[in-house]
Amino acid sequence: MVENTVIIGSGPAGWSAAIYASRAQLNPLLVEGTPQPEMIPLGQLALTTEVENYAGFPAGNIRAFVESAVATERHYNLPPAPKGHERLGQPHYAVQGVELMELMKQQALNFGTRVRSDDIVSVDFRKPPLQLRTGEGDVVEARTVIIATGARANYLGLPSEDRFKNLGVSACAVCDGALPRFRNQPLVVVGGGDSAIEEATYLAKFAKIVYLVHRRDQFRASKIMQQRALSEPKIKVVWNHVVAEVQGTEEQGVTGVAIQSTVDDSRQQLEASGMFVAIGHTPNTAFLAGQVKVNDKGYILWQKPFRTITSVPGVFAAGDVADDYYRQAITSAGTGCMAALDAERYLAERGS
Ligand code: FAD
Ligand code: NAP
Repeated sequence: MVENTVIIGSGPAGWSAAIYASRAQLNPLLVEGTPQPEMIPLGQLALTTEVENYAGFPAGNIRAFVESAVATERHYNLPPAPKGHERLGQPHYAVQGVELMELMKQQALNFGTRVRSDDIVSVDFRKPPLQLRTGEGDVVEARTVIIATGARANYLGLPSEDRFKNLGVSACAVCDGALPRFRNQPLVVVGGGDSAIEEATYLAKFAKIVYLVHRRDQFRASKIMQQRALSEPKIKVVWNHVVAEVQGTEEQGVTGVAIQSTVDDSRQQLEASGMFVAIGHTPNTAFLAGQVKVNDKGYILWQKPFRTITSVPGVFAAGDVADDYYRQAITSAGTGCMAALDAERYLAERGS
C-alpha cells in the first residue's frame, strides 16, 4: 500500500499537520518517534513545564479568563468550579507543555490520524513513491511526506562534559532537575537564550543557588524572560564566561565547574553539583542523508517563500526542522498546517 501522506514527528508541527491532513481525508500516518537522547515523542514541549504564550491557553485563572472573554450566554460550556473555588474558579494555572501536546495528539486521533511508534531511520527520495525505512526495519511508501522532526539540544563538546552525562550534566532541567543530587545544591546553567533562563528559573525552585553562565554581557532571551532571571534572588548571572571544565568523581558526580573569562581568559571555580546546558539546538535531519536540501546549520530549506515545499517533489517540511529563526510552538503548528495544505494540493493536482 502506498500512503497518501506520512508525517514524521510528533511535536506541534506534526500534530497540526495531522489534524489538517485527516480533515482533508488524506488518511495520514504519523510516525511519532521513540525516546532518544535529548528527544522524546510529543517533541520539545514535552521537556518543559508551563507554556504561557501559546494563543488560546492563557496562564492564570482560566475560569475567570473564559468568563471575561466569552459572552455570558455561552458560559454553559464551562464546567462547574471545583469545590472550594466556587467564587474564584481555578487557582493560577498554565497549561503544561506535555498536556498541550496530548491535547493536540488527541485532536488528531479524533479526526482519524493513524500513529506508529517508530522512527524513520533513512529515506529514499530518488523516485516516486517516496520510501521511508523505519527503526523496526519496515519500508513505508508514500506519495507525500511531511518532515516535522524538530530539533534537539546541543552540548558544549567538552570531554569532561561527556564524562559526567547522567552524573550531574544534563540538557533538560525539567527532566532531571528534581533529582535528589540537585536538591538544595549549587547548580550551573550555561546559555543566554530563553531556554537557559527557563531552566535556571525552574532549577531555582530546588537549588541553593543557580549560576547562569553566559559568554556575553547581554542575554539573547526575550525581555520578559530576562526580567524573570534578573529578579530571581537565587539566580546569579555570571557574564562573559564560558565553561572550561566540568569537575567531579565517578562516585560523587559533578562537584564543580571551572569557568573562563571571555574578556581576559582568567579562570574561576564554581562549586556545583550539576551543570545544565541550554545553548541551542540542532535540527533532526541526519536521517535524510543529504537527500533534501538544508542550510549550513542543517535546517531544511523551503524552496519558495511561505510554501513548505522542499527540494524533493512531494516532500514538505514544517516546524523547527525548517526554521532556524522563530522556533516557537505556535509557528511550528502554523507551518504544520501549511504543510498539510501543501500536501493536499500537491495530491489534488496529480488526481490522487
Ligand atoms: P519538536 O517539538 O522538536 O518535535 C519533533 C518530534 O519529532 C519529536 O517528538 C521527535 O521524537 C520526533 N522525531 C525526530 N526525528 C524523528 C525520526 N527520525 N523519526 C520519527 N520521529 C522523529 N516554544 C513556545 O512557543 N513556548 C514555550 O514556552 C517554549 N518552551 C520551550 C522550552 C524548552 C525547554 C524548549 C527546548 C523549547 C521550548 N519552546 C517553546 C520551543 C518549542 O518547543 C518548539 O518550537 C516546538 O516544540 C517545535 O515543534 P516541532 O513540531 O517543530 O518539533
Ligand atoms: P538560542 O535562542 O539559540 O540561545 C542559545 C544561547 O546559548 C545563546 O545565548 C548563545 O549565546 C548560547 N550558546 C550557543 N552556543 C554556545 C556555546 N558553545 N557555549 C556557550 N554558549 C553558547 O536557543 P534556546 O534558548 O534553546 O531557544 C531556542 C528557541 O526556543 C528560541 O526561539 C526561543 O525563543 C524558544 N524558546 C522559547 C521559550 C519561551 O517562549 N518560554 C522557552 C525556551 C525556548 P549567544 O547569545 O552569545 O549566541
